[in-house]
Amino acid sequence: MIDLDDALDFDLFQGDFGEPGDSELSNSIVKGRKEHSCFICSGGILKGENHRRAVWKFSGELHTYRCCNACCVAMIASINCDYDDDDPIDARYAIGDQH
Ligand SMILES: [Zn+2]
Repeated sequence: MIDLDDALDFDLFQGDFGEPGDSELSNSIVKGRKEHSCFICSGGILKGENHRRAVWKFSGELHTYRCCNACCVAMIASINCDYDDDDPIDARYAIGDQH
């Protein structure tokens, strides 16, 4: 059984901060009340799907990033190094790049 909360530790921006004052305001696993698209793979997040929602302040503006269930699972595997060769989160980003 996977605990999706573990995905919250995955650094979405790999420490790539723009300006001082940029900060994370919220980071949680939520259940979708409507459909969204995934920040990582650009795939759909279904209504009722548990996914990660992160809110960041960049340059004074609020941005919300949502990551689908499959990407959360890949994040957990990435954090735990639970893979053989390729980091599974890279494959999720590759899907997003194709869109
Ligand atoms: Zn995704």
